[in-house]
Amino acid sequence: MTGNRHIIHVDMDAFYASVEQLDQPGLAGKAVIVGGPSAQRGVVSAASYEARQFGVHSAMPMAQAVKLCPQAVVLPVRMARYADLSRQIHAIFQQYTPQIEPISLDEAFLDVTDSLGLFGCAEKIGRDIKDTIKSNLGLVASVGIASNKFLAKLASDLDKPDGFVIIYDNNRQAILDPLPVSRIWGIGAVTTRALNAAGLQTIGQLTRTPGHALTRILGNQTQHILDLAEGRDDRAVESDRDTKSISSEQTFAADTEDREFLVSILLHQVEEVSYRLRASHLQARTLTLKLRDSHFKTLTRSHTLDHPTDLTHILWQEAQAVFLQWHAKSARALRLLGFGVSGLSVEGSGQGQLFADPEEEKQKKLDKALDAIRNRYGKDALKHGQ
Ligand SMILES: [Mg+2]
Repeated sequence: MTGNRHIIHVDMDAFYASVEQLDQPGLAGKAVIVGGPSAQRGVVSAASYEARQFGVHSAMPMAQAVKLCPQAVVLPVRMARYADLSRQIHAIFQQYTPQIEPISLDEAFLDVTDSLGLFGCAEKIGRDIKDTIKSNLGLVASVGIASNKFLAKLASDLDKPDGFVIIYDNNRQAILDPLPVSRIWGIGAVTTRALNAAGLQTIGQLTRTPGHALTRILGNQTQHILDLAEGRDDRAVESDRDTKSISSEQTFAADTEDREFLVSILLHQVEEVSYRLRASHLQARTLTLKLRDSHFKTLTRSHTLDHPTDLTHILWQEAQAVFLQWHAKSARALRLLGFGVSGLSVEGSGQGQLFADPEEEKQKKLDKALDAIRNRYGKDALKHGQ
């Protein structure tokens, strides 16, 4: 236990696809896939549950998704619309607590420990939030409640879609024990295979195994993984009031070294992150790529710009350069790719440039115009070219 924190994890169900079904009621109950076109080696950003039944999932190449589910309606990403709804969801959270840590547009942790006196127990707050999102916005959220972040996130996923799961002290191990070891954060495909080969399939089997036997497989991660397996996680909810970074990352269903595929995932992440920067009136100086290989080794590659920016094309140029440099030197299969920015300052608050760069001014106007167009004509959302 991590003291008596009350953490809520809210995760919107098939967010981008659900928004499309909301905005085009004719799509309700139909297979909807949101993402880049297969002709341009696009990838799936989100799939409705109707499409998931055919095996479609996010980060899958669009060509493969369309083959699995040819009847699906394929739509482009409308980031501006999703971001707008994300802000409205965030505003609902703020009615209950300022302690909000957004993980992406459709997912956040809330620490409601200090809100209980005002609003009642965490269960009531979680219910209210879920109901308000549904009645005000017409969207379905899955909610998980527990005493820490790991368990809260696990809980929100246990009964998706439309889930509402609370993990208490007295049901914690009963919930954890039968789950596959891969449900623990940090246990990927390779580690799962190694654990399975050693006869360890479930979290319960893992916790009953002596530490020294696990160290051979888990190395210096052993204690950390055992802590999670027993439901211990000390990380605090980091409120976005003191945002130090904005990032987006994607874990792949299968490890991949396909350069074009990885580049298109990265482009999508850069677009999302730069959009969130502009929406928060922030600019960033440092960009970081996170690359995790199939052996669970995580590398980060950072680049610091001369001047802070919120421009998609500058961040994209630099992110692509950093990625291609890494790829040229040490290409290998990845299981996770992430893009983040840090060194944040409020737009226009820094030293700034003495003379505005006319090219940059032009790009700034272009980004603004694109944001506006996306907001207005979402269906035909424009994408930055690669
Ligand atoms: Mg979600």
